[in-house]
Amino acid sequence: MHKDLDGRIQKLVEILRQSRKCVVLTGAGVSTESGIPDFRGPNGTWKKYDPEISTASSFVLKPHQFWFFAIQFAGPLLRAEPNPIHKSLAELEKMGYVSCIITQNIDGLHQKAGSRNVIELHGTAWRSVCVNCGQKYSFEYVMTQMVPMCSLVPRCMWCGHILKPDATLFFEEIPQQLYQQCLSELDECDLLLVVGSTLLVEPSGSFPEMVKKQGKKVAIINLEKTWFDENSDIVINGNASEILTRVVQQIKK
Ligand code: NAD
Repeated sequence: MHKDLDGRIQKLVEILRQSRKCVVLTGAGVSTESGIPDFRGPNGTWKKYDPEISTASSFVLKPHQFWFFAIQFAGPLLRAEPNPIHKSLAELEKMGYVSCIITQNIDGLHQKAGSRNVIELHGTAWRSVCVNCGQKYSFEYVMTQMVPMCSLVPRCMWCGHILKPDATLFFEEIPQQLYQQCLSELDECDLLLVVGSTLLVEPSGSFPEMVKKQGKKVAIINLEKTWFDENSDIVINGNASEILTRVVQQIKK
């Protein structure tokens, strides 16, 4: 088993070396080691909460309940620091092996680790936006609204309307411009490396199939199996932290 892991890491290193342009797609699994639970993994948030809570209709119909969940979810984000996965990907970018990261995460940890070309496909938890006038607010502002005043719904200081995290909720559309940006990165790549995602959330869940149909390579690193494993050029099941640390070490040799 160990030997098999060594062989797979070696093969991934070869694929990375041969690649002209590698795009990385990351999911919630890259941040679990930073203390932010994923949604569907073995200790995922959906073991504790009903996924319905993070939908666009829940935000509209039950904003107090939605914000209560959002603040619980954001707690670990405030304390989180980049882990070896974020750092390895930033290093691979610096060395010229990764050209872009498309992340489903809203935690900002790729940028904090030093990655430069990051597309936050689902937005960010660090900003909120007024649903009426579009005024943007920092997370710190939201916290001042929530804690001292004991209000459970943060509001715009100009028009008094409710704020929404500047992140895409379930059943909400991804902004077209962001999606187009992803498509142009994927168009130009010859390798898509998926890290820490079940590939169950759209539209990014379909990215591997899309690039494969264009004759490009797909590599997956994930703790568990994904639906696209059989069509991938290489799959490494295991902790991405250990795997990517070893990939960087081998590339540097
Ligand atoms: P997911 O929760 O559906 O799946 C995460 C996958 O990562 C699981 O298969 C799990 O086994 C794997 N995983 C966990 N830790 C790992 C590790 N150390 N190494 C390798 N694999 C590991 O995640 P998803 O596909 O990204 O979709 C979840 C959605 O929830 C996304 O839309 C994302 O925006 C959002 N989300 C974001 C955060 C965040 O910003 N950190 C956290 C939770 C959820």
